[in-house]
Amino acid sequence: MSVSGRPVTPLRCPICQNELDRVVIRDIGGVTADIVWQVHAGFCYDHGWFQAEIVKRPPREIFGVDRPFGPVRRLIVDGEETFAFTTVWGALSGDEQRQPADPLDPRFWRVSDRSSLAAVQPGAIRRKA
Ligand SMILES: [Zn+2]
Repeated sequence: MSVSGRPVTPLRCPICQNELDRVVIRDIGGVTADIVWQVHAGFCYDHGWFQAEIVKRPPREIFGVDRPFGPVRRLIVDGEETFAFTTVWGALSGDEQRQPADPLDPRFWRVSDRSSLAAVQPGAIRRKA
C-alpha cells in the first residue's frame, strides 16, 4: 500500500515505461472470494490511458483505452495499428502460466517485446479518430 493513500499498481505506460498518473483500481471480486479480479488503469501524459485486468494471474495484455474502464482505443505505433501490448506474462508458454505467480509482480507486467517500441518517438504514436 502506498503511504500517501494513492493506489499502487505495477502498470506502466507500455510505450515509455513511465509510471502512470491518476491510477484507478477497480475490484471486481465477489464471484469467487479467493480469486483476485481487478482492473488497473492509469494515465500517461504523453500516451494517454492504459489499463490491464488481473483475473487471478498477471495480465496478459495492456490495452490503450479512452478512459478508465472505457472502450479500447486504437493506437498507431511505428506505423502499425495496435490495440494491445502483450506482457511478459502473456508471452509465457501455457505450462509456464500454470505455475504459481504473484499477479502483482511487476516483472510480469512489462511489455514483452520492447525492440520495436524502443524506436517509437512520442510524436509517432497518435490516437486514430
Ligand atoms: Zn507513455
